[in-house]
Amino acid sequence: MDVFGLLGNPVGHSLSPPMHEAAYDELGFDARYVTFEPAPDDLGAAIEGARALGIAGLNVTIPFKQDALAHVEPDDLAARIGAVNTVDFSGEVPRGYNTDAVGAVRALEHHDVPLSGTAVVVGAGGAGRAVAFGLADEGMTVEIANRTASKADALAEEVSGATGHGLDALGDLLAGADVLVNCTSVGMDEDATPVPADALHGDLAVLDAVYSPIETRLLADAAAAGATTVDGAWMLLYQGVEAFERWTGEDAPVDAMNEALRAGLC
Ligand code: NAP
Repeated sequence: MDVFGLLGNPVGHSLSPPMHEAAYDELGFDARYVTFEPAPDDLGAAIEGARALGIAGLNVTIPFKQDALAHVEPDDLAARIGAVNTVDFSGEVPRGYNTDAVGAVRALEHHDVPLSGTAVVVGAGGAGRAVAFGLADEGMTVEIANRTASKADALAEEVSGATGHGLDALGDLLAGADVLVNCTSVGMDEDATPVPADALHGDLAVLDAVYSPIETRLLADAAAAGATTVDGAWMLLYQGVEAFERWTGEDAPVDAMNEALRAGLC
């Protein structure tokens, strides 16, 4: 039996186990996906121990994504983002990837959103970093707006062609934008949005990384403005799909994983 797992703290409410195990069931894989909560100082030992025990692959979540970088060989994208959420043990050394970036890209592609023109990324934390690098790598011009403008400026200096702003620039930025991604935690379990409703318009595609609730205030405002909407469960789904495909080399059964994920979110 292959064992995959998730390192984080806390991980009790993670939807990754049902999502990945739905994929194993669908494809008839003899595999399990289990969660681990190592103490913060034990992250390196946990990754090394997982390798020694023959665990096939790990996801990594809060609070370990940044620290995991020091314990794996990251690919170029994970190194630039500065965070790892997927570890593959199939080679001589543990390899680290960041599938949040690809998760956002594939979520937008799934909804036939053209990845050209200008993307406004709201937020400059972990998700904002991943999405800004991911969309810039696709060739989009990335505008980063953050409550703390200096953090947006600092991230923009690292991302090719990007510019940093405060949230007060959102009205002007969105007027000429093609894609908007909310990467702040605003809207998580609350009826709030970081984007003024009157800045949204019908030529936008709006992805909200927040997935609880699935339909956030931002997505409701975006739908009312005639925009294409993509909820955060799609990004969560595709980061898992990408991890599954890196570990197994097989196409993931996306529909089965999506069904399991959404059953857990409702
Ligand atoms: P993080 O690193 O803590 O960053 C939080 C971001 O939110 C920062 O940009 C912060 O701005 C901003 N922010 C927080 N409170 C705010 C407020 N009241 N007004 C305006 N901005 C505010 O968190 P993260 O890891 O990037 O996660 C952000 C969200 O994305 C969370 O809801 C998380 O669940 C979600 N997420 C979803 C996926 C997915 O697959 N769907 C993946 C990753 C993350 P400052 O810099 O000014 O503090």
